[in-house]
Amino acid sequence: MSELLGSELLGATGLVTDLGQKAGLFRRAAPLHAVDGVTLSIAAGEAYGVVGESGCGKTTLARTLLGLQREAAGQIRLEGQDVSALPPARARKRRSAIQYVHQDPGAALDPWWRVGATLAEGLIIHGVGDAAERTTRIAEILAAVGLDPAMAERYPHELSGGQQRRIGLARILLLRPRLVILDEPTAGLDLSVQASVLRLLRDLRERFGLTYLFISHDLTVVRRVCDRVAVMYLGRIVEEAPAAQLFAAPRHPYTRALLAAAPHLDGRAAGPSLPGEPPSLSRIPTGCRFHPRCGLATAVCAAREPAVEAVGPAHAVACHHWREAA
Ligand code: SF4
Repeated sequence: MSELLGSELLGATGLVTDLGQKAGLFRRAAPLHAVDGVTLSIAAGEAYGVVGESGCGKTTLARTLLGLQREAAGQIRLEGQDVSALPPARARKRRSAIQYVHQDPGAALDPWWRVGATLAEGLIIHGVGDAAERTTRIAEILAAVGLDPAMAERYPHELSGGQQRRIGLARILLLRPRLVILDEPTAGLDLSVQASVLRLLRDLRERFGLTYLFISHDLTVVRRVCDRVAVMYLGRIVEEAPAAQLFAAPRHPYTRALLAAAPHLDGRAAGPSLPGEPPSLSRIPTGCRFHPRCGLATAVCAAREPAVEAVGPAHAVACHHWREAA
């Protein structure tokens, strides 16, 4: 569902990723499509957000783009080259320009290693420099993420949540990625630390010429960082638009419900939360997947899957009744 804005860095067409499901004794289990026909195109230098409730497939999408999970169908392009259908180890190697910042960077740090040793590990694996050069690069990158280079001597348990997020960023920046996947980068942080991490992300993007794929359930966070946003529901992108347009004039009832339920930046109370829970992937509703939870649903919604329609330049939506939701 994506219009190409500039030169594409990372793109996908018709991407499908299946989750393993245990088979019964006499029957083969049908695959569950955690990502189901996703098409997107991220331009170099862009911050592209993917939002949706927990379990909508956004982390599986990120892992597939990264090469950690193999796609069942579809195409992935990196800098114009098809990198689909490679075995996981080769897929990961071909995609070394993409780095992933873990949801919980503290959990990704070895508790027995000083921060400096953890940061040096990636450089050693990639054969970068001698010990003196590595120490210099680590000090530079710690300063770039707003930390005292003396932090290299600390152990993970001596760091705050915000400092752990910064170390997580330092770790991948040392590898000089072109695209960084940020998975819920501010989850679990209090509001003031969140704000400083978001400021840092904006600064780093500019300074290192980075492209972001920003994954979050939190629309207020996405709004502060992203140029374009895709809204995902049960494995599909249901709306995609420039961020300003999506937040000013959302067209899909799911996007509108997510926005209504999001906390306001000015401290006003959030609106009502979404009705019900997303159904299990093993019981995907017929027609529009959102119809059991949608206040605008009609008979056609349960019978026929909505096609993706252009709402305006670079704004697309998959809903039979988006005009009525305007
Ligand atoms: Fe709601 Fe129908 Fe639109 Fe689906 S297609 S979001 S059920 S109005």
